Amino acid sequence: MAATRSTCCYCGVGCGVIIEHDGTRIAGVQGDPEHPANFGKLCSKGSALHLTAQPAAQRYRAAHPLVRPARDLPFERATWDETLDSLADRFAACIRAHGPDSVAFYVSGQLLTEDYYVFNKLAKGLVGTNNIDTNSRLCMSSAVTGYKATLGADAPPACYEDIDHADLIFIAGSNAAWAHPVLFRRIEAAKERNPALRVVVVDPRRTATADFADLHLAIEPGTDVALFHGLLHVLLWEEWIDARYISAHTSGFADLKRRVREYTPAEVAGICGIRAEDLMTAARWFGEANAVLSLYCQGLNQSSSGTAKNAALINLHLATGQIGRRGAGPFSLTGQPNAMGGREVGGMATLMSGHRELGNAQHRAEVAALWGIDRVPETPGKTAVEMFASLAAGDIRMIWIACTNPAQSMPDQAAVRAGLRRAELVVLQEAYVDTETATFADILLPATAWGEKEGTVTNSERRISRVRSAVPGPGEARDDWSIAVDFARRLEARLQPQYLARTPTLFPYSSPDEIFREHAATTAGRDLDITGLSYAVLDARGPQQWPFPTGASCGRERLYADGAFATADGRARFADVPYVPVSEKVDARYPFRLNTGRLRDQWHGMSRTGTVAQLFQNAGEPSLQLHASDLARRGLRAGELVRVESKRGHIVVAVEASADLKPGHAFLPMHWGSGSLGGDGGLGINALTTPACCPVSFQPELKHAAVRVTKADLPWRLAAFGYARDGDALGLRAALRPLLERFPFASVTLIGRDRPGVLFRAAAASRADADLLDRIDAVFGLDRDTVARYDDATRGIGRRVQVENDRLLAVRLSGDSIAEAWLREWLVAEHDVAALRPLLLMPTAHAPRGFAPRGRVVCTCFDVAESLLRSSLEAEEGTAEAALSGVQDSLKCGTNCGSCLPELKRLAAETRRAHAGSSILAA
Ligand code: SF4
Repeated sequence: MAATRSTCCYCGVGCGVIIEHDGTRIAGVQGDPEHPANFGKLCSKGSALHLTAQPAAQRYRAAHPLVRPARDLPFERATWDETLDSLADRFAACIRAHGPDSVAFYVSGQLLTEDYYVFNKLAKGLVGTNNIDTNSRLCMSSAVTGYKATLGADAPPACYEDIDHADLIFIAGSNAAWAHPVLFRRIEAAKERNPALRVVVVDPRRTATADFADLHLAIEPGTDVALFHGLLHVLLWEEWIDARYISAHTSGFADLKRRVREYTPAEVAGICGIRAEDLMTAARWFGEANAVLSLYCQGLNQSSSGTAKNAALINLHLATGQIGRRGAGPFSLTGQPNAMGGREVGGMATLMSGHRELGNAQHRAEVAALWGIDRVPETPGKTAVEMFASLAAGDIRMIWIACTNPAQSMPDQAAVRAGLRRAELVVLQEAYVDTETATFADILLPATAWGEKEGTVTNSERRISRVRSAVPGPGEARDDWSIAVDFARRLEARLQPQYLARTPTLFPYSSPDEIFREHAATTAGRDLDITGLSYAVLDARGPQQWPFPTGASCGRERLYADGAFATADGRARFADVPYVPVSEKVDARYPFRLNTGRLRDQWHGMSRTGTVAQLFQNAGEPSLQLHASDLARRGLRAGELVRVESKRGHIVVAVEASADLKPGHAFLPMHWGSGSLGGDGGLGINALTTPACCPVSFQPELKHAAVRVTKADLPWRLAAFGYARDGDALGLRAALRPLLERFPFASVTLIGRDRPGVLFRAAAASRADADLLDRIDAVFGLDRDTVARYDDATRGIGRRVQVENDRLLAVRLSGDSIAEAWLREWLVAEHDVAALRPLLLMPTAHAPRGFAPRGRVVCTCFDVAESLLRSSLEAEEGTAEAALSGVQDSLKCGTNCGSCLPELKRLAAETRRAHAGSSILAA
């Protein structure tokens, strides 16, 4: 078995991995002990990376160019040559007839830097449009504008090692425990080593990260700027600021000082919905700490005030001199694996290569000279939300989408899909054939994926790592850079001279190494100068942080140690920004504040993690979380279906009570699109979210929407679950997806672990047609003669049970799904049902004697479920820590990737509290 060093393709922590393979198949993955981002650790998602490359998942990979003869017809296989020639003809004709801005490119923070570089040059250098934007717009653009507004450059000043040296870690708008788990393990370890380390978490929800905090500021959504101004008010009042630093290294403090005067603790406590004492405590800890490290992410970025939130937090660091020192600094965590690389090459509608400014004529001239062209366009391109609106308006006619799934991930799905439908041509460059966006694509170009491609990525701490190929891609799939280069050369040959005033090709590359070298050259003399880096250096010395100029022996860990910032006068700028409430206010019609976020084991739209059954064990289906008092007030019970509706659309999901939310707040996980959550809305979670954007960063406010929640009156229920006879669970799921839209509520998910199965669940106001039930039965193989049947036509109840070798193979319960729990667990556990045959068709909830539901799996690595954990913890003596330690000894839970540790700690604390309560009652 061979081993290839590479990088995890999920979050911005950028963990190093070692891929175990035989040159054709990936067999395993381990954390790279030598990678400075993770030192061998991986989270639950990273540990399961190899499972996403198994043959079962590979069947749903795009392997050949696919072309639809017409929008409503299925794809047909085509050759690369005919497809790219036809695309070049159509793009060239469109550009000639309607101008360069009639086409657009929508790319991804999951592309490698080399891919990004070529796409950016293709749009800006060849086509002559700035209409290139990326899903990083939904992720990090407020962090970019926040840094630029204050520090002068888009450069995170801190590094991961600062976690080990901070004595206050201030986490705002980030559930790092779930979204950046390996980094969170480092915070846990730092706290264990140094119990005096304080952690403050700012988040409307009591997340797993907030659970860990010494102080949780559960602010009202969108009030971060008021909170940060309130903190600065107290810092000023108590003289906890660093007047010397302010005077020597900053500008604009007087204006900000005037503004924050009105943000008194009482005023801020009222706006934020927190106690003034807690604000004072946080300010005192901030002011008294030797080293404060702020970590922040989507709670600050995905906001109509995203830039202001970022800048107001950075203000605190500038006012206290908490920057450029070990353990200190404002440190934005990147959501995607290469959002940073995209920023470096300028692959966005508002950026330019090498951190240059689009509005700066000298910068444009520099890029034009580097590329050997007359000019690069000056007018900013359409940003993500604008791009799809322009498609809907007919201004942009053709769009090329690469490595992203906007028909799942963009807010206001109805508007986005209207744009995709109106487009004259939708090209999708993608590794998977079954994403929501593939439904809208006229042409699908098969791309290689993680484990197959070569290049580099940059993580949150500016560290550039190599991504290496271990196995070839499927069929004719090609690397993203190679597809873009091949198309670009063909387009170049067709465009008229007025669009291209030079002769040799702009795209001479035959390897990603060559592209990297050109990219590195564009950074010469810039803040991110990486002219000293090459593949050879990265291969020899391992991942390196930028800047790494020619002659350097290593990259720079921290920026601004000398107090010199990337502004014209070298001084950091305080941002005098007002607090502006969220874009959509709650009112009597839409009274809930909806927040969206990540789950522990899923990644974005689930095109990759959604192929692995074990990653659904912790949370298999989406549910709306509400405070118990809101359920009671509306007469709702946990588990019931509710209709969640915003001004833009609705979805139907189950509701659950959560003590982690305040009354009036609601939470939904972001991962479910129309491919897994159907119903008559059928547009997934982002049917609800708003396209309102930050006016500076153009990042949409995915973190807040006003919604109403009403009971979904859908008494007829269906649950069908089982295994595919050929073992192809993903094929079974794919066959069920077209049926999702046939019900007011429907969802489809994977169940099981080593042997994956599928669960299809639906609800309606009245019983489904027999035809529809027959279709579902046929998909599960429940239409055979050997299937046991029960039908009560009067009550509308039906059961189908297929048993094979005394094991359940598939089950359909309609009209009555009350036996689902035990039948599903029996199927997944592959228990012998020979002695239970009388129960199988009994139209009641009767379960086998002694049946107790396992509940969700908390530890995915060792398959340890909640019920076992609770009973084991109850059986232990001593403190919560001692009980957990005892349980870990016996069950091993939390001893591998550690992603479940926050949940284990919470369960241990809960069971100890319950234990103490019952002891008091007994006494
Ligand atoms: Fe991948 Fe997890 Fe590391 Fe993020 S924390 S890079 S998802 S292994």
